[in-house]
Amino acid sequence: MIDQERLKNLLIELIRIDSLSRKERNVAMRLKRELEELGAKVWIDDAGEKVGGNVGNLIAHWNGDAPGARPFLLSAHMDTVAPGEGVVPLLEGRILRSDGRTVLGGDDKSGVAIICEVLRVLTEKKLPCGGIDVVFTICEEAGLIGAKCLDVSRLRARTGLVLDSDSVGFLFTRAPAANRFEFLVHGLEAHAGVCPEKGISAIQIAAEGVSRMKLGRIDAETTANIGVIEGGVAVNVIPNAVLLKGEARSHNEEKLAQQTAHMIRSLEEAAARRELKLTGQVFRASVEAKVERDYDRLDVSDDSPLVRLVRAAGKNLGVEISTQATGGGCDANVFNKKGLEVANLSTGMREIHTVKEWLDLNDLYLSARLVLEIVRLNATGST
Ligand SMILES: [Zn+2]
Repeated sequence: MIDQERLKNLLIELIRIDSLSRKERNVAMRLKRELEELGAKVWIDDAGEKVGGNVGNLIAHWNGDAPGARPFLLSAHMDTVAPGEGVVPLLEGRILRSDGRTVLGGDDKSGVAIICEVLRVLTEKKLPCGGIDVVFTICEEAGLIGAKCLDVSRLRARTGLVLDSDSVGFLFTRAPAANRFEFLVHGLEAHAGVCPEKGISAIQIAAEGVSRMKLGRIDAETTANIGVIEGGVAVNVIPNAVLLKGEARSHNEEKLAQQTAHMIRSLEEAAARRELKLTGQVFRASVEAKVERDYDRLDVSDDSPLVRLVRAAGKNLGVEISTQATGGGCDANVFNKKGLEVANLSTGMREIHTVKEWLDLNDLYLSARLVLEIVRLNATGST
């Protein structure tokens, strides 16, 4: 029932509309028109103003003709990562890719296009279905901040799917919680040639601290990274400040807290080894640590009605559904934190966040059939 040509054409049209994070307005307006044509009631929320973007999250209520059926959420994000402007989609057989200068933007326009096609089929074929709430978020790639601003009391559905991952049949039900860090290391400025003994090098302290940190893969559930380092003004000045930015993630809250404390302690110990007495005054190096919760854990049980529903739909189509844990966060983490039960279903996107990104249209079509079967089964309430 999925119209493959129509789905492919919509995906290519969406890919051609630039929509870097905070600049999703043009794609949002195109989607608003699409959903209104299908009889949905569409709003744009105030998330755009809150995050400094040119449009908010798009929320739509589509009413099915089986009013007793459980409402269901379908969500995808409208923004893409850089380089993502002026994308030229190239179709080679079944494989859609960019021309190599930009990402393709199948992350996550494949999810957006699938949702639109499924609603179109439901509308045209008048298939019995409960209400569907559509949420197309902004700024997922900027730290899930569109979803964080979303007022979920506007949704009728308490359960559903985010369509934002790769291999067909994969259902991501577990994802880590993440902390984001900024560490500002303070030293003491001095002329590097004339009086280096009057200085404390913030770069040296940062280097010592970072070299003592456990980073990378900590264990099966936990990862950590220092991703940005900025500091120093000139080669002949002992630097008095270095800024480090990093993160830690874990599927286990206790391990995340331990790793966070370990990273702060490594820097503080390095700083504590440096103090200087100058004309009776004591100067100490110091570390200012800013820790922010980036997002919370995603953990949908294999026994949940949602997983059972997706498995049953997969079975009907001969697609084996495999529940997966990921090391990445997505809007589903945020929806679950806000009290919904949402997992992340794949769309066929591949090698995302690179200019080599590609997508096999057969995967896209199969994902769309799977989503259609999920909402159809959901309406029957039989799982
Ligand atoms: Zn994505």
